[in-house]
Amino acid sequence: MKNNISISQIREVAQEVYEQVKQNTDGKNADYIPFLANINKNLFGINICLTNGEMISIGDTDYTFGIESVSKVHTAILILKQYGREKVLQMIGADATGLPFNSIFAILLENDHPSTPLVNSGAISACSMVEPIGKADEKWEAIVNNITDLCGSAPKLLDELYKSESDTNFNNRSIAWLLKNYNRIYDDPMMSLDLYTRQCSLGVTAKQLSITTATIANKGLNPITKKQVFNADIAPAITSLIATVGFYEHTGDWMYSAGLPAKTGVGGGVMGVLPGVMGISAFAPPLDDAGNSVKAQLAIKGIINKLRLNIFSGEQVNIV
Ligand code: GLU
Repeated sequence: MKNNISISQIREVAQEVYEQVKQNTDGKNADYIPFLANINKNLFGINICLTNGEMISIGDTDYTFGIESVSKVHTAILILKQYGREKVLQMIGADATGLPFNSIFAILLENDHPSTPLVNSGAISACSMVEPIGKADEKWEAIVNNITDLCGSAPKLLDELYKSESDTNFNNRSIAWLLKNYNRIYDDPMMSLDLYTRQCSLGVTAKQLSITTATIANKGLNPITKKQVFNADIAPAITSLIATVGFYEHTGDWMYSAGLPAKTGVGGGVMGVLPGVMGISAFAPPLDDAGNSVKAQLAIKGIINKLRLNIFSGEQVNIV
């Protein structure tokens, strides 16, 4: 079956869903990172970037917010570029943990590998793998350059968020040392943790995140800058990682009800990939119990369902 949709139909549906979801007052800002607790909870934006470069922006899509765990996707792409698919599978893994993003228990359960670069342990391990090993400044430059290529423009470090997170990241410090205990961190643990904390503190917009997922949907070719950011064979690998654990312990529920691989962050951002068609992102600070933005989830799920874009539907989507 074919699903032919036009950009104006997508815009209309996105606007309709935006108006509905805007009324929702559920959830609360992340409060374990003091900076995030104080962000205006009414901010809300939806951005869609098609693989042909056309863009739909509704609401607060130019507001710069903390990328947080969404950055795990960017750095996973970087290590996939530097090491290849097999090595990443071997050194980190690609399994769901079924546990919260910062679970220590998950490390103890699977002590032969950190499971996936999209939970805290695997993401800290991924930062440790970024080349050149042992050189913090150059590793940071590689991380930021890669995020810039994926977003089509540079992210900016939110100093206050970085400080707030560095002052309070005791659980992540334990994770870094546990990884060391199990030989699953490949550079200095505290340096790797600092890179992870800094990448989480980068500010991005919903627009930039939809360009990232549009680049994944477009097999590594950024549809806005036209730069080939990564080889096409990395696209299904990163999309599978996102599909497996993008919503942490609620990923199954999400995939079942939305049918779209998507990654969340406690800053309130969510970005989804519809392979071959588009990247979609939404941003709104209040989170559910698992640390996923309530409004961003409702918005993306609403748009995907209304337009019949569920990747498991077997329908071929054509933008006409
Ligand atoms: N920087 C946050 C942490 O490590 C990210 C968590 C998230 O966005 O899920 O706790």
